[in-house]
Amino acid sequence: IGKIGVFTSGGDSPGMNAAIRSVVRTCAYLKVECVGIYRGYQGMIEGDFKPMDARSVNNIINKGGTILKSARCKEFRTKEGRQKAYDNLRKEGIDAFVVIGGDGSFTGAMIFNQEFHFPIIGIPGTIDNDIFGTTFTLGFDTALNTVVEAIDKIRDTASSHNRLFFVEVMGRDVGHIALNAGVGAGAEEILIPEENLGRERLLESLKRSKESGKSSSIVIVAEGDKTGKNIFELKEYVEENFPDYDVRVSVLGHMQRGGSPSCYDRVLASRMGVKAVEALLQGKTNLMVGVQDNELILTPIHKAIKGHTKIDKELIRVSDIMSI
Ligand code: ADP
Repeated sequence: IGKIGVFTSGGDSPGMNAAIRSVVRTCAYLKVECVGIYRGYQGMIEGDFKPMDARSVNNIINKGGTILKSARCKEFRTKEGRQKAYDNLRKEGIDAFVVIGGDGSFTGAMIFNQEFHFPIIGIPGTIDNDIFGTTFTLGFDTALNTVVEAIDKIRDTASSHNRLFFVEVMGRDVGHIALNAGVGAGAEEILIPEENLGRERLLESLKRSKESGKSSSIVIVAEGDKTGKNIFELKEYVEENFPDYDVRVSVLGHMQRGGSPSCYDRVLASRMGVKAVEALLQGKTNLMVGVQDNELILTPIHKAIKGHTKIDKELIRVSDIMSI
């Protein structure tokens, strides 16, 4: 392998730039060429490439988003699209690539590998932390800090007005952001898709906390939670059954995906980039770099895609105890 391509794909997350920087500099260090591919698979199909040297990634470790841009690409889902991508990579002399993205991006890479025997390694970049084979995905830690900071601010206004706030956080089908940020921000209740205890229990819990002397409350709702049809319907339900409270909804939205990456994400990205390039140069392929017990590990990419992440049961218990 003499030339490695690197790109970001799908939903962006803080830490992607730090991972790009790491891949580019590891290539420079190990004296292989590196090419940046813009806009993920879309840029691959259009031949939007740029050679990257060690200096091309100066001053990006601290930046959110991705300098290579990200995209969703329909054409890559077709055989013809992937053929175009392959032809472009060959023309450019790229022998292998590192894909930084989520399970959709990994699925595309896996299919590409099967069709063209093209070496690929994945780095998990998503704030949702919903990828099997790693305890942390890039961006998760930053997103937690962002959410906790936002909830701290909401708490100030909630406690000044005796309000009950429902705060919706991201996470797609999993509750990792909700559970961790909920404990970190001292939420009264945390509603996650993995554990639906029903609306009645939520009401009981809110009543109990009011009786125990709490004047305001914060309930974190994961976007994939099904306790109500949606967060607004849940608000109406609580208002109808619990008129004492002034209920408000705050949907944090895309701010959760932005911002300067935390130190943890920067360090993790740097480690993962080194591991990904080294793995390719050792002839490994079809793997995802992950971290477990603070050691980097490689997981077959099909397992990363198909596997389910487990919610931290101990954290659920801690949350229950803290909201006495
Ligand atoms: P993420 O990587 O964040 O999960 P997506 O699910 O949007 O994001 O996937 C990113 C891109 O990966 C898609 O736009 C598409 O180009 C490619 N991709 C996803 N699934 C497939 C598939 N089954 N076959 C080929 N390409 C795919």
